[in-house]
Amino acid sequence: MPIALYPGTFDPVHYGHIDIATRAAALFQRVVVAIYDSPANKRVLFSTEERVELMRRAISHLPNVTVISYNGLTVHCARAVGAAVVVRGLRTLADYEFEFQVAMTNQKLAPEIDLITLITRSEYAYLSASILKEVAGLGGDISQMTPPHVQEALRRRFQELGETPSRQVPKARLRDQRAIGRE
Ligand code: ADP
Repeated sequence: MPIALYPGTFDPVHYGHIDIATRAAALFQRVVVAIYDSPANKRVLFSTEERVELMRRAISHLPNVTVISYNGLTVHCARAVGAAVVVRGLRTLADYEFEFQVAMTNQKLAPEIDLITLITRSEYAYLSASILKEVAGLGGDISQMTPPHVQEALRRRFQELGETPSRQVPKARLRDQRAIGRE
């Protein structure tokens, strides 16, 4: 059974991510969760070290899963850890279109590495790190979205940020809906 790399930003880890890691752990001899060190196009709420630590605690019940951080191309990271497979989760058609283009490119760069996608479970299909951050930032209940230690980390981070979390949580889809069009 090959080694699998499960790459992502994981800012922060939530139950949708943990579900994919758990299912990959059952399919592969070893799974390496690889956390992007500096995502080029994303503002992150948690540092790389924090994201790694939150993930390590979240998957500590899975003995064949380890967590690392990385820079540069995902296929280079896969080669470096000896992974023959990259695992990604799929929620929507938009996820599929994005993964398709990345997979085509990766095939050119590293034809020996295959992509395997796992379809989200329906209970997590709505869940993304940005939705999680938005609900947490607005004081909503996130107990069904992420484990207690991540809930606590989010609570502390938003407390530190005070009233100005908007740089780290740019989207605002869950508030002020009734006000739209009334002004
Ligand atoms: P990205 O790697 O695109 O920055 P994330 O760090 O949020 O995004 O996600 C890492 C991986 O986990 C991606 O493959 C993503 O599709 C997958 N994923 C995210 N949320 C879910 C979910 N709710 N269910 C299944 N897979 C998910």
